[in-house]
Amino acid sequence: MANLKKIKLDSISKSVKEHQKPDPETYRGALALAKKIKRKTIIHINSTQSGGGVAEILRSQVPIEKSLGLKSHWLVIEAEREFFVITKKIHNLLQGKAGFLSSKEKEFYLSVNRELGKKLAEFLKQFKNGVVVIHDPQSLPMINAIPDNFSSLLRLHIDLSSPNPSTLEFLRPFIANYDLVIVSNKDYLLPLPWIKKSKLKIIYPAIDSFSDKNKSISPEAAKGIIAEYGINPTKPIIAQVSRFDPWKGQSGVIQAYYLAKNKIPDLQLVQVGFFEAQDDPEAASSFKRIRKHAKGDPDIHLFYNPKQLKNISDDILINALCVASQIMIQGSIREGFGLITTEAMWKGKPVIARVTSGSRLQIKNKKNGILVASPEEMAEWIVYLLKNEKTREKLGRSAKKSVERNFLISRYIVDNLKQYLVK
Ligand code: UDP
Repeated sequence: MANLKKIKLDSISKSVKEHQKPDPETYRGALALAKKIKRKTIIHINSTQSGGGVAEILRSQVPIEKSLGLKSHWLVIEAEREFFVITKKIHNLLQGKAGFLSSKEKEFYLSVNRELGKKLAEFLKQFKNGVVVIHDPQSLPMINAIPDNFSSLLRLHIDLSSPNPSTLEFLRPFIANYDLVIVSNKDYLLPLPWIKKSKLKIIYPAIDSFSDKNKSISPEAAKGIIAEYGINPTKPIIAQVSRFDPWKGQSGVIQAYYLAKNKIPDLQLVQVGFFEAQDDPEAASSFKRIRKHAKGDPDIHLFYNPKQLKNISDDILINALCVASQIMIQGSIREGFGLITTEAMWKGKPVIARVTSGSRLQIKNKKNGILVASPEEMAEWIVYLLKNEKTREKLGRSAKKSVERNFLISRYIVDNLKQYLVK
């Protein structure tokens, strides 16, 4: 049976007031906007409470909206595994994978959404008016259940630069009904020419610099944390943090590591991808393939089971890893944005990323990071950067500055508040 689960958020890293301290004018702007929206209820809906960029953003966005006085809620859809197998397939098809949905799959997807829609309509009855923000395609057909006193926003976080045409056509009647569609990058507007320009918006994602994942940790503390997990902080470390998923390119990163290790024999590779996201049933099979590829190399450290963590959260481990590694790797071959790139750049780390729409948005090649086209090129840059500390530091400094300018959550909050006034 499908359901909508209300997420309780007791802890917030810091209110938007703190976030805005360096820029009080933006804070005043956010407050003024919030005042206009105050009477409306804001409902965010997505498909997992943890594991993945959308959950990461909502974990900060919802409490920050509340701290501005908005009545914001976060609902997560719950459904049987078969539903998430189909929605992951839809996600893959929209990101350009070949294939098609069978009529049985389409019907199952729609029937679960009808069931969820009924629950949503019931839930919304208690509020006078507001905004429903549906994040990503899993619950996209629920547009049919959103009443007139609520405006409807579709927030697509995925890479929509070359979607599978038949899948997009299947979803088109639902997408076209939203009051507003928000994407992360201008490339993703191209497949949507049938939506009026005034109903399309681009908002770049952002990170919460005060969260456990992004707060400042000293290099010494970071080294201490990773040493607890068998990683040697005195030897070179490269790290990738991504759900185990064919799009995330873990096998290409291992290939690059093996090539680089010929030149840097004590090189270590850490790959983190905890099985957390309920909407990603492919993780276990992807991980098995990667483990085979890693062939039991003692210098490859794989993190996948949350039970591997002793007395710290995954956020702290990821934070420490970003701080203690010499280089962070973004291996994705398709990436809507790539919050992990932002997180690593915020720690002043040089990121070597495969060229994707998301990485091109964040990395200006050789200025604040490195963009590469293949595992071979990735290996060359790993070796070069490990031998050139000054270049690493220079790239890292620029990386941090560009996150500070473009990708912190205070700007994201204001961009979103403006959209809540859509009708
Ligand atoms: N992440 C995490 N644990 C993991 C893997 C990833 O907390 O084991 C986080 C990561 O730090 C980032 C988000 O999940 O905040 C991934 O976002 P991204 O946009 O890079 O990819 P997505 O998973 O949304 O496709």
